[in-house]
Amino acid sequence: MSLPTNHIGKVILAGAGPGDPELLTVKTLRYLQRADVIVVDRLVSPDILQYYARREALVVPVGKQGGNTGSTPQSAISELLVRYALEGKLVVRLKGGDVSIFSNVLDELQALVRHQIPYELVPGVTAALGAAAYAGIPLTARGYATSVRFLTNYHEDAVDADYRELARTNDTLVFYMGSASLDTLIEKLLRQGIAADKWVAVIEQATTPMQRVSAWPIDAFLPAMAGVRYASPTLIIIGKVASLHQEFKWLPQNESGRDLYFKPVTKNKEQEVRA
Ligand code: SAH
Repeated sequence: MSLPTNHIGKVILAGAGPGDPELLTVKTLRYLQRADVIVVDRLVSPDILQYYARREALVVPVGKQGGNTGSTPQSAISELLVRYALEGKLVVRLKGGDVSIFSNVLDELQALVRHQIPYELVPGVTAALGAAAYAGIPLTARGYATSVRFLTNYHEDAVDADYRELARTNDTLVFYMGSASLDTLIEKLLRQGIAADKWVAVIEQATTPMQRVSAWPIDAFLPAMAGVRYASPTLIIIGKVASLHQEFKWLPQNESGRDLYFKPVTKNKEQEVRA
């Protein structure tokens, strides 16, 4: 499919992949080479902007980070997209991973529709798929799991029955945004009788040079990892498939500690990174 030649006033909502800049799609790459404005999340590799974006593009970081007061409010991000598009710009809204998984794309879509601004959605490699591949964990390996679920345990209204169901299922469970409450999650699953052949794999900074994987049988996980603070971002895979990491890991483990690949959010103001 060819890309439109007339790019006046359009917003491309695109996924940048989980970290490794080579996991970008060709389609997003081509849009980045033409964009006037790139509105970019915190969890997007800085190399993508440095190597692939048009030199003259205005880059606007709008990072969000749980518990960080420097985060840009969603309404301000949606307004920015609308404003630049109404000025006739080709705007790329670049999000970490995939554009629709645990992202606020709905607010942005609603704002664009309200202002009748044309848009496209371009998928990206979501963190679950990037982390699974780079940790050597086939998410639905035959004999291990027949389904996979993408979840977040940022879930205030979950009750015991919810954890019982999670403890009993043979689906592979992939948790986004869960590292802060991981210990509680594991305790609850153990209390609900999760089987001992289930493993937990924690993948920090997946697909980046700082990737680190910790995989243990679920009943050994808490003693083994006591006191460890995970580097952001972190993804959690729970299920029999997580044990396969031992056999199929292929990426060397980062031994240099927990340096951060993605910089923390520091300011909430629109900021020109490059003239
Ligand atoms: N739209 C993104 C997810 C945004 S929510 C996607 O499709 O991947 C942010 C959460 O994604 C983080 O808290 C973390 O759980 C996960 N995540 C994103 N990038 C990651 C990475 N490189 N390594 C590990 N987890 C990641």
